[in-house]
Formats: sequence, structure tokens, C-alpha cells
Amino acid sequence: MSKVLIVEDEIAIAELEKDYLELSGFEVEIEGSGKDGLTRALTEEFDMFILDLMLPGMDGFEICKKIREVKNTPILMVSAKKDDIDKIRGLGLGADDYITKPFSPSELVARVKAHLARYERLIGSNAQENDIIEIRGIKIDKTARRVWVNEEEKPFTTKEFDLLVFLAQNPNHVFTKEELFKEIWDMESIGDIATVTVHIKKIREKIEMNTAKPQYIETIWGVGYRFKL
Ligand code: CA
Repeated sequence: MSKVLIVEDEIAIAELEKDYLELSGFEVEIEGSGKDGLTRALTEEFDMFILDLMLPGMDGFEICKKIREVKNTPILMVSAKKDDIDKIRGLGLGADDYITKPFSPSELVARVKAHLARYERLIGSNAQENDIIEIRGIKIDKTARRVWVNEEEKPFTTKEFDLLVFLAQNPNHVFTKEELFKEIWDMESIGDIATVTVHIKKIREKIEMNTAKPQYIETIWGVGYRFKL
């Protein structure tokens, strides 16, 4: 079931949105304050965000910008003023869509559905169950355990390969070092989470043009790493 977070301080509007989305089969959570909304958006897993623009504490612009620094989850901005839409566009905050109040709840539901479908296609096309993963200049053959970067084959150790494949198969998801260590090294007793850092460094040396400005595996400071789609 797709999970939607609504950040909206007008309870009547939030409840209306929630009712309609739930009728369409979505799981919906509401946050009334901008700061709490942002915290939940960054720490919990949601499939879509609906952000009101005018909020106490932190406005929708700021929340949108902060979410986009770490997540590609679809964002629908809700505004009371038509002028704000130009502002949203102009700021290039990365919102996927915007709707002005008052809107019909069924239109909101239609837009949420459309963005979720588009996003799932995007993710799905890069996480197919076949044996070849191709993301921009990188090609990974899972069966043969071979990696090419811009047509040039690069040697990978077993764990480097496993780590790269795991990240590439879960693009845009931020993993902590602990999660990655658990996933790739499992129950093996040798090593610790510093092993993850070392392996990420080695992978970057092979796939990145400039390791100081990684285009594929990004460091999310204070959290961990993600493979950028
Ligand atoms: Ca508001």
C-alpha cells in the first residue's frame, strides 16, 4: 500500500485530503507543523509528499528543498495563492506538481495516482529482475559479475561488487553504514562499519570521474550513502 505524508496546518483540509486518499486505497499520515513534517519526511519511508506552502515553523518551500537534497519521492505542493506557483517553478525546488486551493479532492487523488505510477515506472525500470543493470555510463552484469564504466571493464572484488549491486538495485534509498555492513557482510565477524567506508572509496575510484564529486554513490552526511538514479 502506498503511503502518503500530508504536511498541512489546516486540519479540515488535511482531513479532507486524507479521507479521499484513503478511499482510494492509500495509507495517509498528517503532520501539522513544518518542522515535524520535515523530520518525518526524512526519517520515515513515504511514497509521496503533499506539502502545504504556508506552515508554522518552516514553510513548504524549505521542506521541499530539504527533502530533495536526499530523496526523489514525488512532491505535490499545495498553495492558497496562484502567484506562489510561479514562485515554486522559479525556485526550481524540485516539486513534481502543484495545486491551488480550493481544489477538488478527486483532482488531488488523480494527481497523486499519476505521480506515484510515474515514479514506480522510473524505479522499476532500473530495478528489473534481469541480470543487466544499466545506469547512465555504468553497466553491471550480475550473472557474470562484471562491471563496465563507459564501455571499459573494471575489476571488482566480491564485496565491492555485492555492495555496488545492492546500492544500484535500490537507487535513491539512503542506507546507513550499519545497514550496508549487515546486508553485505552479514554475520561474518571480521571487520566493522569502517569496512563499508573503505569499500565505498574503492568503488568510487572505479566508477566516478571525480571521486571528490561523486555522480553515482553520494554521501549523505550524518546518515550514510545512496546510489543516485
Ligand atoms: Ca497553511
